[in-house]
Amino acid sequence: QSSIQEILAQLGIKSENPAYSTGVEWAKIGNRTQKTIYSPIDDEPIASVELATPQDYEMIIQKAQEAFKIWQKIPAPKRGEIVRQIGDKLRAYKEPLGKLVTYEMGKILQEGLGEVQEMIDICDFAVGLSRQLYGLTMHSERPMHRMYEQWHPLGVVGIISAFNFPVAVWSWNAMIAAVCGDVCVWKPSEKTPLTAIACQNIIADVLRANHLPEGVFSLILGDASIGELMSNDRRVPLVSATGSTRMGKKVGEAVAKRLGKSILELGGNNAIIITENANLEMAIRAVLFGAVGTAGQRCTTTRRLIVHEKVYEEIKNRLVKIYPNLPIGNPLDSKTLVGPLIDKDAVRNFQNALQKVQAEGGKLLVGGEVIEGKGNYVKPAIVEAENHYEMVQEETFAPILYLIKYQGNVENAIAIQNDVKQGLSSAIFTTNLIEAETFLSCAGSDCGIANVNIGTSGAEIGGAFGGEKETGGGRESGSDAWKAYMRRQTNTINYSTELPLAQGIKFDF
Ligand code: NAD
Repeated sequence: QSSIQEILAQLGIKSENPAYSTGVEWAKIGNRTQKTIYSPIDDEPIASVELATPQDYEMIIQKAQEAFKIWQKIPAPKRGEIVRQIGDKLRAYKEPLGKLVTYEMGKILQEGLGEVQEMIDICDFAVGLSRQLYGLTMHSERPMHRMYEQWHPLGVVGIISAFNFPVAVWSWNAMIAAVCGDVCVWKPSEKTPLTAIACQNIIADVLRANHLPEGVFSLILGDASIGELMSNDRRVPLVSATGSTRMGKKVGEAVAKRLGKSILELGGNNAIIITENANLEMAIRAVLFGAVGTAGQRCTTTRRLIVHEKVYEEIKNRLVKIYPNLPIGNPLDSKTLVGPLIDKDAVRNFQNALQKVQAEGGKLLVGGEVIEGKGNYVKPAIVEAENHYEMVQEETFAPILYLIKYQGNVENAIAIQNDVKQGLSSAIFTTNLIEAETFLSCAGSDCGIANVNIGTSGAEIGGAFGGEKETGGGRESGSDAWKAYMRRQTNTINYSTELPLAQGIKFDF
């Protein structure tokens, strides 16, 4: 087992002042606020970082703008080649980077490594995409005219990311934006700057080796105030922000005020429906991974379980029996399935939510205790509840599963599922075709992700990721999500010697 100091050294991070090790120019000057990062595993300090000032922000945006002038002119497949090299470097650093994700964020090592794998996968996807940024050709209504559309880069893309996927979400944005010809400025969560510095080191090496400016992928460490500068900055045509709905409303409003573009990936309140026709073995496994995996700190975590009355007691009894035996503890230990919460505030939010939901009438069936000692460990909880309770309507970023009973047909379960403000991920367990197709139909789930016989969490990068309603409406990652990172231009070319007007308009003089 390598120590955190060895891992930092492998990733080129100097523990006394990691911000310096990125080679980013802003880190080399000035008097800044220091922030010490503690591991949620054992409350021990890992390293201190310096937070950027508004002057630093200004310098970074200018460097990014300069880099854009160069990067946009590099042919897309050549940009893809740079992303391919980044993917190769990530393969080489998968082990230490995955471990650092675990040390800094607290997810179990399997998931830390999985997060780096997701970065590698999106690099591969982006390399292929770099040769497929297709536009359509249209038939002109005018003779000897040709009409087509092409996609151009936007410019500087601001990426604001959350603590729970400290590196993967950035890569979904950055690698796609890069092949599209954009340059990125990344403001990671102030809770997880070290993994961001490690990524910047990896990227900076590739850029240097290819004689490209580091401004193609910039990093800025800071709190919400830096995110606000970005949201209000006209030089940043697209802001892609991942985090809470509260944050997304602020960013969305600021960007909309200047008529910029935003991709908002916000909170979820995801449900699994288990019908009377479900394979219960599969359903239980999916519920466990969805509800307690990442200690309930995924945007796609299963927060509500909507179960048909005929199988309700069985599901309830089985889960209540399993929960006390969940291996909770150090996420670096291969037997652990539930690691710590990110910080003490998250532990308090967990306790408060449980208290409030019980005051509303919820019945705590199992779990809910805070484990004394070092680190932020809690016992995942199951609460019997009703969907309209205030706490059930909200996303508490912790492992609380609300158990809700439904009667009658699947439409009733779908109505309960859709009756929340958020619309990220949803799932149904059934072997009945009519139930499955009803769930997927236009009158079914209102979420951006709807799965059959698969849980709510653990999406693949190939699909477009994101959700509706207060989840923000953005889409990232696969499918044609790349289009949000480019501007579409419609081109009409006249190769005749006449000048016919569209719609047959005569305008002769
Ligand atoms: P958070 O909203 O506290 O912070 C997210 C990021 O936004 C941080 O970098 C933070 O500094 C920044 N920020 C906060 N206020 C800002 C403001 N006013 N202007 C600009 N930037 C601001 O979220 P968190 O606690 O880090 O992450 C958990 C949340 O993220 C959960 O709600 C979760 O569902 C959501 N999330 C969503 C997705 C998705 O794809 N839909 C993915 C991961 C996490």
